[in-house]
Amino acid sequence: MKGQSDRVVRQIVIVGGGTAGWMTAAALARKLSGTRANIRLIESAEIGTVGVGEATLPQIREFNRMLDIDEADLMAQTSATIKLGIEFRDWGKAGDHYVHPFGVHGEPIGPVDFHHHWVRENARGRAEDFGSYCLAIEAARHQRFDLPPENPASLLHAYTYAFQFDASLYAAFLADYATARGVDRIEGKVIAVDSDGETGFIQSVMLESGQQISGELFIDCSGFRGLLIEQEMATGFADWSDYLPCNRAFAVPCKIADPVGPFTRSTARSAGWQWRIPLQHRIGNGHVYCDRYISDQDAVDLLMKNLEGDPIAEPKQLFFRTGKREKLWNRNCVAIGLSGGFLEPLESTSIDLIQSGILNLIALFPEKQCAASDVDEYNRLMDLEYDRVRDFLMLHYVLNQRDEPFWRDMREMEWPTSLGEKIEAFKRRGIVPQYDHGLFQPASWLSVFIGQNLLPETCDPRVDAISVADRTNQLEHIRRTIDNRVGQMSGHLAFLEKYRATY
Ligand code: FAD
Repeated sequence: MKGQSDRVVRQIVIVGGGTAGWMTAAALARKLSGTRANIRLIESAEIGTVGVGEATLPQIREFNRMLDIDEADLMAQTSATIKLGIEFRDWGKAGDHYVHPFGVHGEPIGPVDFHHHWVRENARGRAEDFGSYCLAIEAARHQRFDLPPENPASLLHAYTYAFQFDASLYAAFLADYATARGVDRIEGKVIAVDSDGETGFIQSVMLESGQQISGELFIDCSGFRGLLIEQEMATGFADWSDYLPCNRAFAVPCKIADPVGPFTRSTARSAGWQWRIPLQHRIGNGHVYCDRYISDQDAVDLLMKNLEGDPIAEPKQLFFRTGKREKLWNRNCVAIGLSGGFLEPLESTSIDLIQSGILNLIALFPEKQCAASDVDEYNRLMDLEYDRVRDFLMLHYVLNQRDEPFWRDMREMEWPTSLGEKIEAFKRRGIVPQYDHGLFQPASWLSVFIGQNLLPETCDPRVDAISVADRTNQLEHIRRTIDNRVGQMSGHLAFLEKYRATY
């Protein structure tokens, strides 16, 4: 039996220095400190990074906390604004809009969740717009923000937030963090990979300079090309284009024309959708589309025509295919970031999937031989995350009522059973998916169901245990409480100034 020290992974090689590579390097440097692990990261300035990815989810704050990063400093250095949710325009039908918030709608009345009461009041024509019962949404609408209370007095005061930032500055920030903690940064292009003929484990990579870099655990953060996981290991790709067919995007930044609100915007277009992500110094914009329904020229024209500010660069075209590797961890190689998969940026989930990949790797950190049970468990956990994201993204598409061929086809496509069951459960009597933890809790599903005009046929019968007058009063109380709270908040830009000064 081998001694303890023979089994410990000490040589870790990360290939790729985009957001995925540097998030991984920073987290491993922090979590493996004191274990004598040697972490090396190879990146190629000539190849560069994908250069997009500005909107995040609230979970990123836990990642930064894990690294002990001062948030005010990070925000100043990445030109970050606050994100309280995503506003969806024209997704149900033209003229509709709703917000998917980082907070809940209302609070339970008696034993029954708020949305059942809202459905009942709405059927009587007595309810306001569903979003107006959510503090995060109302704050976003009024461009206001203050840090949420740590222990909110009631659910009505509970919300959270994420950032809209320059992801390349975030990667640079984490690169400084990681290198200061011993990560060895190697500039160079990997041109060959050497694997063990018997086990298939990667043993080393070779750079254009001829330098050979060997390792025991390889993390593939090389972006869409999947240099190790696919080009070397031929792991296979589960192609989800039938479910999420958008496969191209144009991205372009523009000047800030109006005060920037604390939310990302997604506007449906004839064969896809357009994003608008306000940072402190510019607005990020992009048009995600499916090339079977619109030409590249029309797609870029549509984007440029709908900019709310003068462009400050030429539009950049990006190509992608939605789906994921059959295994995100194969032998001694773990794919994190775009090398692992991509599910279009509709709900800003890519950086979050990077984070999950890293946290699961740390939790299951392997011995040198990478036991199959650890690898399988990692892949199982990541599959769950990807499936959940896929279903939630698809929900936006399948619930549309638009007329264009793209949208008709999206509505009529075959859904994964897991999604069909969720839609049915809500349609029948307002039941919403509830997960132990992680992405897309009930408020997320509710905002899309109701925002895209799917209302349940019946609601929880217990709503009738409360008199109509009591329910009306409660709804009014909730709205007043939220209005008062929003009225006390700082303006978004004033908050950013104030917060910067705390560092
Ligand atoms: P990359 O940025 O491509 O980095 C790859 C790295 O590998 C680079 O350093 C490169 O130099 C290196 N490399 C590659 N080959 C070699 C080689 N042979 N030798 C040495 N080094 C090599 N995510 C979000 O969370 N929010 C968003 O709003 C969002 N919007 C997006 C919009 C679009 C249109 C797209 C396509 C993606 C978006 N994403 C978004 C995803 C996000 O951009 C990525 O998840 C994130 O940038 C991580 O990319 P990466 O590090 O995996 O890959």
